[in-house]
Amino acid sequence: MRILVTGGAGFIGSAVVREIITNSHDEVMNLDCLTYAGNLKNLTSIENDKRYSFSDTNICDIEKVRATVNAFQPDIIMHLAAESHVDRSIENPGAFIQTNVVGTFNLLSCSLEYCSKLSEQKKSKFRFHHISTDEVYGSLGSEGLFTEETPYTPNSPYSASKASSDHLVRAWYATYKLPAVITNCSNNYGPYHFPEKLIPLMILNALEGKPLPVYGNGEQIRDWLFVEDHARALLTVAKKGTPGETYNIGGHNEVKNIDVVRNICKILDRKVTGDKPENVNRFEDLITFVEDRPGHDIRYAVDATKIKDELGWVPSETFESGMEKTIDWYLKNQNWCDDVQSGNYHRDRLGVIK
Ligand code: NAD
Repeated sequence: MRILVTGGAGFIGSAVVREIITNSHDEVMNLDCLTYAGNLKNLTSIENDKRYSFSDTNICDIEKVRATVNAFQPDIIMHLAAESHVDRSIENPGAFIQTNVVGTFNLLSCSLEYCSKLSEQKKSKFRFHHISTDEVYGSLGSEGLFTEETPYTPNSPYSASKASSDHLVRAWYATYKLPAVITNCSNNYGPYHFPEKLIPLMILNALEGKPLPVYGNGEQIRDWLFVEDHARALLTVAKKGTPGETYNIGGHNEVKNIDVVRNICKILDRKVTGDKPENVNRFEDLITFVEDRPGHDIRYAVDATKIKDELGWVPSETFESGMEKTIDWYLKNQNWCDDVQSGNYHRDRLGVIK
């Protein structure tokens, strides 16, 4: 198969590209414009493989997207390119509308043009797979889970832009019969995660003896999904999912933010012995509570029964095993951490409304 992955230089997209090259015979083109969040160093382990190629393309440039899709002739398009950070969407929502909404429209238009010219046999197998988030469903109380039928109630500019793109994909299936599938997943974590997100931010700050800023009271609950489990789930849906369907993907790991941070501290206390920062006795002493994120959702939790029953996917990592792997990776990959922070990003707080 020929698989076009947009956003393949990002955190999840690069896990998908690595999974394809490492564990299948498929060819993959990575379409990405390398924003601050995209980094080709995420792909050094597979970049010389003959089945991998890269196109430096912005999904907001429809002519270039059209040319790239037509030249590569994909069997599947997996669309992950997006602006993905909630705090940034509070500071600069315009970029989220351009990439997540207009960019997705461009990709849908080009995919439909391309798909309509395919032979009937190829068309019946073609899939457009949109990768989205459980944040489109809004916030849960202490009970219940998001299912595929939960009404959309996005609360942040990020989740509103992802909800918009989900609706466009749904409409392209209903109106134009583009064979599209959507997945909505919970919070991912794992290797190659850009350090503005909770888990890598806490690991890197802790290793430098800097404060560990927990938003509000830290009681917000998220369901955590190991990124390599997610990559396998995405390929399962892309290859076996039914057009017009949505599949929720979750890790069955509901944890309060404050417990995520305490857990990181405990693992670091065990693993970092000799070269602890001078000011650190126990890493937990670095925890500081800071002003909450505006509109911070209380709880997300995903019912992933449908993907298990219909497509046979279940996560293989527990939160404990995934966190061990993640922390080991950050401890061994300081060069990558230095590299992704060599530009404008220095782990400063974003998204506070003044
Ligand atoms: P990421 O921010 O790490 O990577 C996004 C990638 O898209 C980067 O490589 C970036 O260069 C590229 N990109 C951004 N704008 C582009 C544009 N205009 N044209 C071409 N490329 C562009 O994001 P991620 O965490 O890997 O998330 C991937 C997808 O999964 C996103 O659609 C996101 O909404 C969704 N998602 C992520 C999570 C999570 O926990 N990270 C959870 C649910 C859903």
